[in-house]
Amino acid sequence: MITIAEKYKCNGCTACHNICPILSKKTYPQIQSLKAFAAINNDEKIRLQSTSGGVFSALAEYVLNQGGVVFGAGFDQNFVVRHMACENLQDLAGLRMSKYVQSDLGNTFNHVKKLLQEGRLVYFSGTPCQVAGLKSFLLRDYDNLITQDVICHGVPSPLVWAKYLAYKTNGIRPANVFFRDKTTGWRNSSFKIECNENTYQTKRLGDPFMKMFAFNKILRPSCHKCHFKGDGHVADITLADFWGKAMKQYAQQFDDNKGCSLVISRTQKGEKLITNLAKQKISYICVPAAKALKGNPMYFKSTFAFLRPKNLGKHLSTLPFEKFIKKYGKLI
Ligand SMILES: Cc1cc2nc3c(=O)[nH]c(=O)nc-3n(C[C@H](O)[C@H](O)[C@H](O)COP(=O)(O)OP(=O)(O)OC[C@H]3O[C@@H](n4cnc5c(N)ncnc54)[C@H](O)[C@@H]3O)c2cc1C
Repeated sequence: MITIAEKYKCNGCTACHNICPILSKKTYPQIQSLKAFAAINNDEKIRLQSTSGGVFSALAEYVLNQGGVVFGAGFDQNFVVRHMACENLQDLAGLRMSKYVQSDLGNTFNHVKKLLQEGRLVYFSGTPCQVAGLKSFLLRDYDNLITQDVICHGVPSPLVWAKYLAYKTNGIRPANVFFRDKTTGWRNSSFKIECNENTYQTKRLGDPFMKMFAFNKILRPSCHKCHFKGDGHVADITLADFWGKAMKQYAQQFDDNKGCSLVISRTQKGEKLITNLAKQKISYICVPAAKALKGNPMYFKSTFAFLRPKNLGKHLSTLPFEKFIKKYGKLI
């Protein structure tokens, strides 16, 4: 029988222990000055094609205009979520919008390192654990690297996603998938699959996959004890939804049901980028960070695990998928 060490060609040198952001127990300097902004992309079309206020696209456009490279999560031809490099505005559309599935990083970290060493400007966008992983992998800071993460609810299993999509489309390759389509408004955003001239569109929690995601049934087990909450965020910028009480109090002019970004900058690089984008690409209002984050508790804590079914993995491989969905994706 082949051992794990043989399978992964491990020679037991333990170098990976120094790279892994959890095993290395690396500590980062405490952040002295978090700055928070409510912000929207000035291009309404792009804002409506984005999950929140479209600040990711504004940052990415800035980097592309400087001759830089943007890394983010997109769909491959089979709708598997993967990190990919983008060097032009046309390809950027594929990175827009949250995909609520764990993204496969593939060879991204090596690619980023090579570009940084060549002196290219690089913008890496991902979940907090992916940004921490990249920083740990690089072993040093680079002035030409911009990092951005999100306030993360957790990422669902790619296997559940693959099975769900095949079940929903009868194995036919869809034309497009939107986890959060805003044609029905940001508050009532919908889940949409366009397939063979048929469109399946339903309110978010009316879809079994989105319900299993929102109710923490199919997240990776590690997401329930995430190491990258609060001061564990290490990106220059964090993006999320801006909403709730803080929206009413500080940013009412952006409260038009089209989506607004909460932007947290934790480095001078991050703050400078955001303020430089102002006027041309984004409109923003400075808001007190503590108040803005109070309405978004996932910044500080992991999603609770008690709703995660104990036999999920076993049932995923043993039950016919229709039965699996009936059991775990029951609609209210
Ligand atoms: C898995 C996940 C969970 C989230 N949970 C919350 C939450 O609980 N509360 C909250 O306020 N905000 C959450 N967000 C963030 C929010 O949905 C928006 O992504 C964020 O506000 C940026 O929106 P935008 O309009 O600026 O740009 P958009 O165009 O919507 O953002 C696209 C960016 O998100 C990245 N991205 C998309 N999918 C993934 C993925 N699977 N893995 C890594 N990166 C990805 C892309 O690389 C791209 O850079 C989550 C995002 C993801 C991906």
